[in-house]
Amino acid sequence: MKQEHEHEVVIIGGGPSGASAAAILAEHGHDVLVLERDQFPRYRIGESLLPFTYEPLKRLGLIETMRESAFVKKYSVQFISPSGRASQPFYFFNRYDRDTVAQTWQILRSEFDVMMENNATSKGAHVVHGVEVKELIQEDGRVAGVRAVGPDGEAREYRARMVLDCSGKESFAARQNRWRRKDPELNKVAVWTYYRGAKRDEGIDAGATTVAMIREKGWFWYIPQHNDMVSVGVVAEGKYLSRDGVKDPKAIFEREVKQNPWIDEHLAAGQQVGPHHITSEYSFHAEHCGQEGLLLVGDAFCFLDPVFSSGLMLAIKSGVMAADEVHRGLVENDLSPDRFAEYARLLREGIENMRKLVYAFYAPNFSFKQVIEKHPDLAGDITDCLSGDVNKDFSKLWEAIKEFASVPEELPYGAPKAPAAVGA
Ligand SMILES: Cc1cc2nc3c(=O)[nH]c(=O)nc-3n(C[C@H](O)[C@H](O)[C@H](O)COP(=O)(O)OP(=O)(O)OC[C@H]3O[C@@H](n4cnc5c(N)ncnc54)[C@H](O)[C@@H]3O)c2cc1C
Repeated sequence: MKQEHEHEVVIIGGGPSGASAAAILAEHGHDVLVLERDQFPRYRIGESLLPFTYEPLKRLGLIETMRESAFVKKYSVQFISPSGRASQPFYFFNRYDRDTVAQTWQILRSEFDVMMENNATSKGAHVVHGVEVKELIQEDGRVAGVRAVGPDGEAREYRARMVLDCSGKESFAARQNRWRRKDPELNKVAVWTYYRGAKRDEGIDAGATTVAMIREKGWFWYIPQHNDMVSVGVVAEGKYLSRDGVKDPKAIFEREVKQNPWIDEHLAAGQQVGPHHITSEYSFHAEHCGQEGLLLVGDAFCFLDPVFSSGLMLAIKSGVMAADEVHRGLVENDLSPDRFAEYARLLREGIENMRKLVYAFYAPNFSFKQVIEKHPDLAGDITDCLSGDVNKDFSKLWEAIKEFASVPEELPYGAPKAPAAVGA
């Protein structure tokens, strides 16, 4: 096995979480190596940003780049009933500053992820593509690096003081350590594809995310992108989508399009492009955020149902937070697991708040409108959480939602694994 020289930090995966962490660590002056399995640009799902991605993007120095990009500007979200009736769009500028948080973007991941990577390399991070991490190097209860295979097929060891797992929902380290825990209820299937030339709404509504409901608490996303493309997908229980024995993603998708007149009408003007994708049973939580020498970031730590587009915000924010804490640990020469307890607490707090709204969304006969009609003073809380301002005390909101739907217990996950217990 070929031995590479030791790095301060090795990052598994160069998606948004890995590139964010790499950029911040490099900015702090650390020696950081990103091992990315795929060649970029590459396809990825996850194309709608939340308003509160603004702060971490600003920290990364990417706001101007985003403003100059071709990415479609997103000012609002709207909901469509199963009968095709559109709600009043919710405009972020009704609550947030117009020059910052109130406008976000619909992105194309092949372009966005290259932009994120270029930002990390411009600050001094080293990124290699075509290298797949196969194993964590575990020594005396701590992670001391990774074993990986490069494009030449040769196995290599990359040693590091700290390994960040940013491998996405494949969650490399959580799988290896058997830390993956399914969400008790969120267990949906998504089927999606793309259309060119599909109908867009006018003016500032042209970039709106539309969530269009179908029966059985299923829903479509409709995300306008640049180059006249629209990303459109349906999410629901697997047993609903595969009813009548239909398994082919294209057949499922085309059947479900007929379930919502708004979606049907908007797609009718366009041309379907490329394959129909499918993914299933994807929500999970990692029992621990890490152990000595290892920290989980982004989807590798937790993947929630995508209904409120929280994944990229959490991935980018956690990349920045992880990098800042690892930096402090490197400077103070203390990377003990305990120092990441607060990182995990903050992340879990945000995830649990978002998760409560996701559960409410799927509860039978629930609507946020009902809650707001009865408790108008809580409209701002709902907006904040849905916009990604998730680290707040929403206890009044949960009490109000309990009048209409059950609110899930918080899951006891996320604390770093204590050194003595490793391998126990
Ligand atoms: C159907 C669906 C719809 C979604 N819609 C949205 C949305 O609208 N808005 C939103 O914000 N989020 C959405 N998401 C979530 C979003 O895709 C993720 O939250 C986001 O991609 C997480 O970024 P990440 O960097 O953590 O992981 P990823 O983007 O998955 O990046 C991980 C990287 O790690 C690499 N990698 C994996 N394993 C290895 C290995 N062993 N060795 C080396 N490299 C490796 C991969 O190649 C990849 O490049 C959606 C997800 C799904 C499934």
